[in-house]
Amino acid sequence: METKNNKNITTCPYAKKCGGCQYQGIDYAAQLKKKQKEMNKLLKDFGKPEPIIGMKDPLHYRNKVHAVFGRTRKGEIVSGTYEAGTHKIVNIDECMIEDEISQSIIRTIRGLLRSFKIRTYDEDTGYGLLRHVLVRRGFATGQVMAVLVLSSPILPSKNNFVKALRKEHPEITTVVLNVNDKKTSMVLGERDIVLYGKGYIEDILCGCTFRISPQSFYQVNPVQTERLYQTAMDYAELTGKERVIDAYCGIGTIGMVAAKKVREVIGVELNRNAVKDARINAKLNQIKNIAFYEGDAGRFMVSMAEEGEKADVVFMDPPRSGSDEAFLSSVIRLAPKRIVYVSCGPDTLARDLKYLARNGYQVRKMQPVDMFGFTEHCEMVVQLVKKR
Ligand code: SAH
Repeated sequence: METKNNKNITTCPYAKKCGGCQYQGIDYAAQLKKKQKEMNKLLKDFGKPEPIIGMKDPLHYRNKVHAVFGRTRKGEIVSGTYEAGTHKIVNIDECMIEDEISQSIIRTIRGLLRSFKIRTYDEDTGYGLLRHVLVRRGFATGQVMAVLVLSSPILPSKNNFVKALRKEHPEITTVVLNVNDKKTSMVLGERDIVLYGKGYIEDILCGCTFRISPQSFYQVNPVQTERLYQTAMDYAELTGKERVIDAYCGIGTIGMVAAKKVREVIGVELNRNAVKDARINAKLNQIKNIAFYEGDAGRFMVSMAEEGEKADVVFMDPPRSGSDEAFLSSVIRLAPKRIVYVSCGPDTLARDLKYLARNGYQVRKMQPVDMFGFTEHCEMVVQLVKKR
């Protein structure tokens, strides 16, 4: 990794407009140092974080590419990202952190629109069809899913469109039409219509195979995710006898990786599609000692605590907004020997650790993992143990 003026690596032509990468222009080693310093400072009350686990290759690490589609005033079709703080689209041809194959699929789609007379959606007027394209690629399996987010369930000459797309990109294994007909800044609508293939892709993490639907959360950096989960497993100190909770479990990844080493896993997740995937994933991997519940993790934990249930280890991996008091106070009542907190929001992590530290838990180890090179974001794994 070189410094500022090295064109190959750290100069991104969209850096100022896109706003996605806050650490553009900083060499990778310096980025890691910055994150380490930041984590040390933020978490100083709980001890000293371990040295950050950086990426071997910090470029093109994202397995998911999202592009918003629109037109310029002159009528040119553009696809990319919103200019930071606005609704003006920055046309992006190449991004240095996103998967290259997925990006080329998006460029192909942009090129096909005119001949298929597919209009891009206009946010102001509500006219037009194509709003977003989302491409996800399983790095381990090579399976590729293209999701076309349309304002209507009808894509004229859809079969020919899919054919044309697949001709350029035979690597695409499934194409899904997602219907988003609301005036919203959310990318995906609720309805998925499979145009080609299975309607999902699979990927492999830590020896388990996972089905990923368009709507399900899946970590964007699978290489570092394996290292993250490995750390989480180490911190859980599993012996084979434990009853384990995987809270905010998504498609069940952490729980399934843990399942082989424990007696029983209970997963809880809010997103219905993710829970569906999780249940199928358990079958796919022939894991029988795992059960998934759909619902708010806080409420689920409250009801477990009220029923006098216990757990030996709790994994928790909440969204950036962190956990809530219902959840945390119930964890304390469930009295696990160890809590493994996986966090993508260090501020809310610090807040939640404070609560747990005041209520009988001690932070023992903290491991930063860089999942998001060139951005300011940092992932953390924390081990908490119950005080005697
Ligand atoms: N552990 C998973 C997912 C982590 S992302 C993985 O590593 O892949 C956080 C997950 O929390 C998302 O799947 C999101 O849908 C879910 N979530 C958000 N709010 C929730 C809540 N209140 N209760 C349960 N799950 C929630």
